[in-house]
Amino acid sequence: MKAKKALLIVDLQNDFCPGGALAVPEGDKIVPIINKYIKIFTKNKWPIFASRDWHPRKTKHFKEFGGSWPVHCVQNTFGAAFHPKLKLTKDTILLYKGMDPKKDSYSAFAAEDLSKRPLPKILKRLGIKELYIGGLATDYCVKSTTLDALKARFKVKLLLDAIKGVNLKPDDSKKAIQQMLKKGAKKITLKTLGREKCL
Ligand SMILES: [Zn+2]
Repeated sequence: MKAKKALLIVDLQNDFCPGGALAVPEGDKIVPIINKYIKIFTKNKWPIFASRDWHPRKTKHFKEFGGSWPVHCVQNTFGAAFHPKLKLTKDTILLYKGMDPKKDSYSAFAAEDLSKRPLPKILKRLGIKELYIGGLATDYCVKSTTLDALKARFKVKLLLDAIKGVNLKPDDSKKAIQQMLKKGAKKITLKTLGREKCL
């Protein structure tokens, strides 16, 4: 039987965690929780995706070339590596985004795997209808990924206990969550997922 749900872990990379170039406050706190989701998805044989911001050294995304952000997640650097405590399985499908030096690209929906297959195509081939989305950061890449997924008519469960925001303005994350829910995402936590599985 084809899989119907998949876990999508957004940008859980060193540069987005405390000590990184573009640290999300407490970004590392969600790692053990994401690991629990990974266990559940692995047990149920539901596919797992992990996206990575993967920038060239020169891109319009960075401040010094006209963009909004400090240098972060440069390809093949420590900052672009996944958080060392993230326990990805060997079957996890790795996705890369942000390679185009002319674009910002926040959404993991615009990401592709190593063979350059775009995520929506992979999801279609696997028969996935519902995405469980968590990771960093709530108010940027998680938001943009979720909104794109909803636009593409996927069901989305937002992992409320496994996201953290940048909060350039204090309520940015709160607003981002409200926006995602308004557009049709449903919230879920480990606790409620446990209950859902008993059904
Ligand atoms: Zn970036």
